[in-house]
Amino acid sequence: MTRWSAMELPAAGRPLQQVWRERLPRPGAGQVRIAVSCCGVCRTDLHIVDGELRHPGHPVVPGHEIVGRITALGRGVDGLACGDRVGVPWLGWTCGRCSECRAGRENLCPRARFTGWQIAGGYAEQCIADARYVFKLPARYSDAEAAPLLCAGFIGWRAYAMALALAQDVRRIGLYGFGAAAHLIAQVAAQRGQQVFAFTRAGDAAAQALARQLGVRWAGGSDEAPPAPLDAAILFAPVGALVPAALAVLRPAGVVVCAGIHMSDIPSFPYALLWRERRIVSVANLTRADGDEFMRVAAELPLVVHHVSYPLADAERALADLRAGRFAGAAVLQVQPPTSVAT
Ligand SMILES: [Zn+2]
Ligand SMILES: [Zn+2]
Repeated sequence: MTRWSAMELPAAGRPLQQVWRERLPRPGAGQVRIAVSCCGVCRTDLHIVDGELRHPGHPVVPGHEIVGRITALGRGVDGLACGDRVGVPWLGWTCGRCSECRAGRENLCPRARFTGWQIAGGYAEQCIADARYVFKLPARYSDAEAAPLLCAGFIGWRAYAMALALAQDVRRIGLYGFGAAAHLIAQVAAQRGQQVFAFTRAGDAAAQALARQLGVRWAGGSDEAPPAPLDAAILFAPVGALVPAALAVLRPAGVVVCAGIHMSDIPSFPYALLWRERRIVSVANLTRADGDEFMRVAAELPLVVHHVSYPLADAERALADLRAGRFAGAAVLQVQPPTSVAT
């Protein structure tokens, strides 16, 4: 049977529609076809659906935390075979020739194409990916557990690594917005001996409870002050007002890393909050090197991936629950029933 379905966004602000296709997609040169098992639901998907990121002008199949198995190889694919379990992240293609690509900053390539935006993503039973951008997955994670590693994990890792490199001697790190990314990076930081401070929406008891369960030192609302100044803060919540809030609890020469692709406007604030060499930086996308590094970390450290599953056809409900903050951890679309998937 080759009939398969996908959840498609016809235009920004419209509901996703389930569409059916009669033929399996054929991988071109250098590409693989993947039978999708699971796909994570990321806040970036919401920004696309809500029109905060430009709609590419054609129907979009969202989803860039794809886990599945290769079922066909295009010409010239090396190092991958049919049956391999792989993951597909947000970065789907780069030019390889521009000054950013040549300098190791492929995350900033102006011609980059992204999975689930310009390239059809994983809210679907089948997808095509460029073989050079897919990842093998650590065996210790099930398909549903592996999916959130591919963006929440990768972007979280890039933000965390940047915070450590810029602030130096980081012992106390704050995470604003305790969702899919923060719940993974909190475990990485705690297992590496740092004290983690989790800031949630005011009164979000479920997220605060999850944070404490995962080893954070302190959990509270983003309107609360932590018990000690922070060396670094990472903002996963898309709320510009958190920038001055985080600066206000940062030690001198500390850094605020904004990890989201979109954020509401940052309100004006007194220069004294930035004075004494505090910094505000952003993290954009990921490089394949970030992904390789994080997969090595995730293979070594036993990360708990707290996830809530939805059937593919309920993608709209998953997005609505993410928008409203109705679950803790990560949302994952279960595209194929786990029992039908060979390991
Ligand atoms: Zn480039
Ligand atoms: Zn994402």
